[in-house]
Amino acid sequence: MKIYNLMEELVEKKVNKLYDDLKAANTVWLSCDCQNCRLDTMAFVLNRIPPKYIISSRGITHTAADANLTQIKADIDTLAIEGIRLVSTSKRPTHNIKTNAESLVISGTKPFFFFPTFTGTVMDGLSFEPIANATITLLRDGKPVEMIDQTWANPTKTYQSTKGTYSFCVKPEEAKEEKLVTNFQFTIQVEAEGYEPTQYAFSTPVTSEILRENRGLSLYSLKLQDLFMFPVGSENPME
Ligand SMILES: [Zn+2]
Repeated sequence: MKIYNLMEELVEKKVNKLYDDLKAANTVWLSCDCQNCRLDTMAFVLNRIPPKYIISSRGITHTAADANLTQIKADIDTLAIEGIRLVSTSKRPTHNIKTNAESLVISGTKPFFFFPTFTGTVMDGLSFEPIANATITLLRDGKPVEMIDQTWANPTKTYQSTKGTYSFCVKPEEAKEEKLVTNFQFTIQVEAEGYEPTQYAFSTPVTSEILRENRGLSLYSLKLQDLFMFPVGSENPME
């Protein structure tokens, strides 16, 4: 028996179907539909939705028919189209948008600051309900921070099925030497229709290290404090 992320199957099917449909319709903006582009799109979607694990010996089709998956399926549709557009418009010679992260791991000689994956949640400050469709930007020195590869977006968005959560995976930064500790300052900026925009500044110390070939890119994650947004015109009880 094996543990299996049900979302992988749903996403794979959806992304392949969309690519096939778009190709059949001769969609102008679809520049490529090779296997690498399809895999990049799948990673883009899977990085934005919560996993749902099942034991593989049990019927997958049975679980997939679960009515609770309606919302997540709708979000997968939206994300898949978004991902295909992004992958289609990024012109990388290798056609493989994971080159960035992989080349860093393989090099194995240079020290880098590997950032934790930042995750957080955006909520309504009055109802404590998660906010969908919020736009979140991660800034450093006032500028949007580059992500590790194009399966991650900055700015990113929150979706209903992900309960207002977002995550960022920052591109590792080259360091002068190994075991240097630097305190990195970031600002999260959040905007959502009908809400007052909000900002949150935080810092995190990172120690530079050299990734050895067999270790892989094992990223840990840093949970940021919940961000509360207040409807335009409402009294903010925290002020
Ligand atoms: Zn391609």
